[in-house]
Amino acid sequence: MKDYVPTIGLEIHAELKTKTKMFCNSLNDSEEKRPNVNICEVCVAEPGALPTINKQAVKNVLKIGLALSGKIADFTEFDRKNYFYPDIPKGYQISQYKYPLVQGGSLNGIAVTRIHLEEDTAKSMHQEGDFSLVDFNRAGVPLMELVTEPVIKSATEASDFARELQMVLRYLGISDADMEKGNMRVEVNISIRPSKDEAKNSSAKLGTKVEIKNLNSFKTVEKAIEYEIKRQTKVLEEGSKVIQETRGWNEIKQETFSQRIKEDSHDYRYFPDPDLPKLFISHIPEFSETELRKEIPELPKEKRVRYRERYNLTEDDAEFFIRNGDFDEVFKLSLDRLKDNDEKSVKLVSNYIISDLAGAVKEFPGAMSNKTKVAEDIALIVDMIVTGKISSRGAKDILRATLETNKTAKEIVGTSVSQINDEKDLLDIVIRVIGANKSVVDEYKKGKIASLQYLIGQSMKESHGKANPEILRKILTSKLV
Ligand code: MN
Repeated sequence: MKDYVPTIGLEIHAELKTKTKMFCNSLNDSEEKRPNVNICEVCVAEPGALPTINKQAVKNVLKIGLALSGKIADFTEFDRKNYFYPDIPKGYQISQYKYPLVQGGSLNGIAVTRIHLEEDTAKSMHQEGDFSLVDFNRAGVPLMELVTEPVIKSATEASDFARELQMVLRYLGISDADMEKGNMRVEVNISIRPSKDEAKNSSAKLGTKVEIKNLNSFKTVEKAIEYEIKRQTKVLEEGSKVIQETRGWNEIKQETFSQRIKEDSHDYRYFPDPDLPKLFISHIPEFSETELRKEIPELPKEKRVRYRERYNLTEDDAEFFIRNGDFDEVFKLSLDRLKDNDEKSVKLVSNYIISDLAGAVKEFPGAMSNKTKVAEDIALIVDMIVTGKISSRGAKDILRATLETNKTAKEIVGTSVSQINDEKDLLDIVIRVIGANKSVVDEYKKGKIASLQYLIGQSMKESHGKANPEILRKILTSKLV
């Protein structure tokens, strides 16, 4: 199998979040369940209806362009991509051909060719029997299309790219980018060639490329690529040729299948849409780079660096926050409330959120409804651990109790889980632990310092997490001389 290497490029479409559609005033509402509600003469293509350009949609594409360090076009225009299909009422889709809004850029180290703006099609719903229904709510919804260079080398590299793009789109707030809902769609172009050709010259002739469509999850993207690598390898090994075609994914059989022989781009007879003005981006003040940059938040890539360098979080922990916006917000709010933002406290906050809070949310779904409260609780708990007022066992109990009861950590601490600080109360426990762990005590006396920590732990357990660990240490060391 290693005799062949794949070359993969991606085409990703994402519906943009705007109030109205790309070329008219109909609402852009992906939640609308009733068919043909958000439509007008423009998006159903009544004769004579004229399109106007949605500024917000253009802005959204320029923002993702800047976020991926692409080059913003100075001049851009819209083209008609002609083809016949029931879901494309005009007989053409308005898209961009020669002058896309963005050229170049990169993400995850993968070069982006272009990002352009177009309109989505209507939705065909094939019915039992021999007819289909068409819902035009989606017709004319702004759609961005991003094309990568064919430089991707594996299934995971492809799905990582798509995942990262989804995250950037969400950070920018320009698309929900949900693959299951179809508002982000990934198409894969894949060919394979003998690895000895690859070694000779990376730009030497590529194999015949196959396009895979209708992939509705990141997992499916990976599985389809892996399947296709195996299928094409087998075709070549048998001495046959790979056919240039479009294939779909069969989820039940877990395999790709031939859909149609691919049209060449000239079949679309692209030409500039005479109904729309050309755009000179640099002449439009609100499209200036300085203005657009003001609306670009910290991106996943930057956050990754900050979390690693400033807080010394592990790669996995940083990634957890980067991918889970709600917990990230609790993290940030907790740090704002901590007495001391030292490495130890930050690490504790991160641990309690990732292992305790995130786990408990499954049990108490309402737990995250008030993030400020959760953050205050976590900050207080961590402050108390750091100053030795509670043990880490106690901290877990308190955090859980706040989620169970919806009381604040302060209230909980004031009642049931308060710490035992009284030496007299702890002395009994220590004596019992010493009695039950004779061999550990001997080891300690012979100089094994780590045994002390074990004895503190045992005493803590005996006190059901309520003992002050510093006082336990004091009593133990004085008893074990
Ligand atoms: Mn397209």
